[in-house]
Amino acid sequence: MGIRIVIIGAGPGGLTAARSLTAAGHRVRILEQAPALRTSGGSVTLWPGSIRILRELGADPSDLGSRLTRLEGWAPDGERLMTIDLTRAERAHGAPSVHLTRRALAERLAEGVPVEYGSEVVAVAPERAEVTLADGRTISGDVLVGADGRDSAVRRALWREDPAERTPWVTWQTFAGAPEELVGSGRSLVITGEEGMCGLSPAGPGRVLCWFEVRTAPGRPLWLDEADPVVRLKEVFGGWRGLVPEVLSVVTDLEAFPHWRHKVPRTWGRGPTTLLGDAAHTMPPSLAPGTNQAVEDAWLLARSLSDLRGYERTRAGQLRLPARLAGAEITNQPGRRVPGGLMSTLYSWWIRRSSGYLSSRPG
Ligand SMILES: Cc1cc2nc3c(=O)[nH]c(=O)nc-3n(C[C@H](O)[C@H](O)[C@H](O)COP(=O)(O)OP(=O)(O)OC[C@H]3O[C@@H](n4cnc5c(N)ncnc54)[C@H](O)[C@@H]3O)c2cc1C
Repeated sequence: MGIRIVIIGAGPGGLTAARSLTAAGHRVRILEQAPALRTSGGSVTLWPGSIRILRELGADPSDLGSRLTRLEGWAPDGERLMTIDLTRAERAHGAPSVHLTRRALAERLAEGVPVEYGSEVVAVAPERAEVTLADGRTISGDVLVGADGRDSAVRRALWREDPAERTPWVTWQTFAGAPEELVGSGRSLVITGEEGMCGLSPAGPGRVLCWFEVRTAPGRPLWLDEADPVVRLKEVFGGWRGLVPEVLSVVTDLEAFPHWRHKVPRTWGRGPTTLLGDAAHTMPPSLAPGTNQAVEDAWLLARSLSDLRGYERTRAGQLRLPARLAGAEITNQPGRRVPGGLMSTLYSWWIRRSSGYLSSRPG
């Protein structure tokens, strides 16, 4: 008979952990503060390592999104600077890179997982693996896993401080049926210049995620006080040519996603309590680390329950480089012309380097 595990948070990290720990024979309770599955937000890119983990757990979401075959980097004047052939990494690692809505991913991951909704954790006793809920109930297990995101209550109880800080960057994002040439394609584009970055990625049937990353002006939080962000974005990106003006002429209802980060410590838990996903390592979305690294945590945790500090140390080592690159927001820096062959090889290396799952398998 397995041990009793209490997971706080039914985001991608908590749901993957629930699947992974249940598959390993443990008794899992998963508590979520929201009254129902949280499906808002933009879309995410899942790398080959995550797709293989989710396949093993019976929750492969590939059919719900767009299989990416090319990642292109463009300059604001409409010049293509590089093309990464993503099929090379797909062949090397046995799974595609897939871009899909957060909603589609959450729904696939939650299938058959008995989430206890409306269960907000308000107090945590890490040494006893025990939580108190807003309705007064107390719940404990043999192991407590904080998968409760960037503003984690479990992390606060463990660390007694909130190390997460905002970076100067914010993403404005929405879904559109344009640009037409990307709908239903495998092409994902990033256009970078001094003003910021525009990303365009097919995200499943009929849909493209259009996002703009802009640097917050000191003293003027662009993500808070913009009555009509499209007007402001047209000012910022007004001099750009090609697809960007076309996109800005059709998008509406942009939503803001501010970027946060904190340093990844060597270990992050205490006694029978640990963390995973954004609770342990909040990062900006540069190079799409958030969901992929949460899935990687969940996979390793299910194999490391008898050594939680070992799990944390291993993951901290694997996370150092992704955290550094994401924290530096490297995908928002103006692009340079780079040979496609070199970038395709580098991308494939990166996919393996940032996946503990893939690294543990013969190359
Ligand atoms: C609503 C939402 C929208 C998002 N949109 C985007 C986006 O557009 N782009 C992007 O790159 N990333 C987005 N993210 C972040 C992204 O989901 C994560 O970076 C990544 O998937 C890692 O997931 P996670 O499971 O660690 O954390 P999260 O996805 O943040 O999930 C944490 C879960 O814990 C729950 N929770 C928090 N506190 C408590 C508590 N006290 N008691 C019980 N439950 C609690 C939350 O309600 C949430 O469901 C979003 C997250 C959320 C919650």
